[in-house]
Order: sequence, then structure tokens, then C-alpha cells
Amino acid sequence: MSLGHYLAVVRGKQLPFWWRSKFLTALNGFSSLPTEQLWQLHDELTKSLHTKQRRNEPAQQAGRNSLLDLKIELTRRIYRSCTLCPLMCRIDRMNGEVGRCGLKADAHAFREGLLVSEEPFIVPTYELFLTGCNMRCKFCQAWEGVVRTNLGFKLTGSNFAPKVERKAKRGALNIHFVGGEPTVNLLAVLVSLKSLKVPLPIVWNTNLFATDEAMKLLDGVVDLFVADFKFGNDECAWGIGGVRGYVATVQSNLLKASRIASLVIRHLVMPGHIECCLVPVVSWVTQNLPKVTFHLMLNYLPDWRAWSDKALSRRLNESEKQRAMAIVKSVGLKRVLISG
Ligand code: SF4
Repeated sequence: MSLGHYLAVVRGKQLPFWWRSKFLTALNGFSSLPTEQLWQLHDELTKSLHTKQRRNEPAQQAGRNSLLDLKIELTRRIYRSCTLCPLMCRIDRMNGEVGRCGLKADAHAFREGLLVSEEPFIVPTYELFLTGCNMRCKFCQAWEGVVRTNLGFKLTGSNFAPKVERKAKRGALNIHFVGGEPTVNLLAVLVSLKSLKVPLPIVWNTNLFATDEAMKLLDGVVDLFVADFKFGNDECAWGIGGVRGYVATVQSNLLKASRIASLVIRHLVMPGHIECCLVPVVSWVTQNLPKVTFHLMLNYLPDWRAWSDKALSRRLNESEKQRAMAIVKSVGLKRVLISG
């Protein structure tokens, strides 16, 4: 999908996916059913969201569970032996255990506000920065929220809904989940959406380092993915981001994201990583998603552990910026944004 779905929601011509999921009736009493059966039902209902393109609120029968309830149940089951991302920690987050992301079942927002400094079609945007992340990028600017997972306030339906309603009155076009990484906080987000009565689209600002199951749960929830394609090869992903198997996972999830929602791909150019990271990223996007909006970010700032990495401990120089812009302009991508 191009930006079409997201823009249609912003203009009031379509309802957000999460809203449709909230009112799409699912089977009642499904908590006693086996997981395989729940996935089957989930996949059928999610598919129907795309095929029917319901503009109006689908009727929900009183007392029946919705597709959103089904997603919550499946996410709870995953949390009991967590495989939400490829790190596959298999720990019981519902029982207070923590894996690499440092999160139990609750989510905390360490920053929030109405921001105007993102892509032009997103702003003004209500951003909620959730703690915890499954990656450990050396240059992370949100590192405090990554390592201190109980920072800020606990996200609940009762505090989330009034905050969104206030921001909507002040002009917010969307609800923008940022991190850390929002996907590793999926359960609390889904539960919070149940209380929300304002049908704003959801922007999911993500590293897309997620399993197939997580991507299926995001289908029917997210309206616009703002996805980082950070590294062009697995060696840099391991050395800088601390994860293995990065490239194949993110490429596969970018293709999925483009099928289930609108998509923007961001690449933050890192000093000394133009040939090894920017070039293969741009090449893959050109070949596989040439119509997608590609945001080239030239505003790299060293932070956190970047100071101990010789290549990453400085800003981009002018010749790197010129080279990065020339690479992107030379490949014929249809929609390019450049910032920084
Ligand atoms: S979401 Fe967190 S606990 Fe679950 S697999 Fe990923 S890092 Fe591990």
C-alpha cells in the first residue's frame, strides 16, 4: 500500500484498521480454544478487514468478542513464552519474567507530546515513546527509555484515552507509537485501544525486527508503518544493533508491512556506513518497493555507546551527505524525503 490508506483515514474517508478490528465480531468464549484454532479465526477475520474495505463501523453484536479481543488473547498467549521478536526469549512475561527487551507485560511511556518535526503528512502527531527495545543500537538517542523500562507512566486504557482525546482536540492527526520499540509493547497497546473512542489512525514507528506472528497481530491494527531499515548487512547489524539475522527479517517484514498498511521507510545514514549500509538498503528498496516513500535522514548524532566506536562517534561530514543524496537521487525512487 502506498500512503493511500493512511491519507484516506486522516481525511475521514476510511476508518482506521484498529477501529474496524474493535467492532468486528469474533467468536464468543474463545479463551478455552486451542491456539491453532484462534490463529485460524484471527487470519480469516483480518483478511476480511482488507477485502471488505468497510468504511462504516461494522456492527458488533452485544456480548460478543471482537477481532481486537482475539488479538489481545493471542498476544497474551505469546507473552507466556515470548516469541514476539526473533530473539525468541521464550520467557513468561505474564509472570514477571523479562527477556532482552527488559519488559514484563506492562508498558511505560517515558515521553509523550504533540510533535511537528516528523514527515509532513504525519504532523501534528501525538507521539508516545514506549520503554524497552529488542535491539541495542550503539547510537540510540532514546537509550534511557531502552534501559530503564519502568521510566515514565504506566500505559493503561484509563490514562491513554483521555490523553489521545485531548491531543485530538489540539489537532493531532494520528496516534504515533515510538520507542524503544512499540512492537515489544504490543499487549498494553492493544488493551489501551479498547478504551479509545477517537478513530485516529495509528502510526507504528518500528525497527520491524519482529516475528511473523507479531506482524500478523499488527495487521488490522496499524495504519501507517514508519519503519527503519537501519543496516545493509548482517555484520553491521550485529556489531552496531546487537541482533543476528537482521537483513532477511527486516526485508521480509517490509514487504509484509507494505501489503497490510501504508508504509514509509527511513534510513538514518551513519558515518562510515554509506557503502556497506546505505547502498544495499537503497538498492533493495528500489528493486522491491520502488513506489514507497523513502526518507533519507542525514541528521545522525552520536549518543550513548557511539562514543566508544571510532566510526560512529562523529556527525556526517559534508561529502558524506552529498554522496548519500546523490545515491538516492540516482536510483529513480518515486517518493524521496531528505532531512537533516
Ligand atoms: S519481545 Fe522481548 S521478551 Fe519477547 S522475544 Fe523479543 S526481546 Fe524477548
